[in-house]
Amino acid sequence: MDIAWTPWRYAYIAEETPARAGVPKALSAWQGDLGCVFCNMFAAVRFAVENGMPQQEADRAAGIVYRQYACCVVLNAYPYASGHCMVTPLEHLPTLHQLPEETAEEMVRIAQRVDEALYTVYRPDGVNMGINEGKAAGAGVAGHLHMHCLPRWIGDTNFMTTTAETRVLPETLDVTWQRLHDVLKDEDISEGLARWAKESAEKKGPG
Ligand SMILES: [Zn+2]
Repeated sequence: MDIAWTPWRYAYIAEETPARAGVPKALSAWQGDLGCVFCNMFAAVRFAVENGMPQQEADRAAGIVYRQYACCVVLNAYPYASGHCMVTPLEHLPTLHQLPEETAEEMVRIAQRVDEALYTVYRPDGVNMGINEGKAAGAGVAGHLHMHCLPRWIGDTNFMTTTAETRVLPETLDVTWQRLHDVLKDEDISEGLARWAKESAEKKGPG
């Protein structure tokens, strides 16, 4: 039962975070390394946008499907099923109770949208929405809270018992990005983006 609930945990245990993890090649102009996959990703995107790359192009390069103000939806680079993504706050905080209330509320609202999007796009029999806090709980990226969201099908536990190398995924990450983006993009986020840009310029805002 544990495997069925946290199918994403096993591939990551004891893995160290490699240098500049989370920085995609297209955004490697950013030279830093914050030691966190998510923080690196957000900093690389911010740097690219500040240097003229369109927001959506930078987000897509990083696998960011959707964002509001304090949180975004990121594709899992090592999905356990097509559509496997994560809702994560931009701020580097390790636990749910440490999130500012506004951020926590936004995270849950986005999770609702993702949940609906996964049913819409993938027509699964069920969906896992799960948070692991800390290595002991199976978090692949400890220290930066994220909620895994993935579609599930009756009988699909078979692929969880196989190794990562033999996992069969029927679509590429780029296809997943497009499909999820197409159903998530509808809400007007221009206000949130404007606020993000303003506070980024003042170096106060999150990622
Ligand atoms: Zn972080």
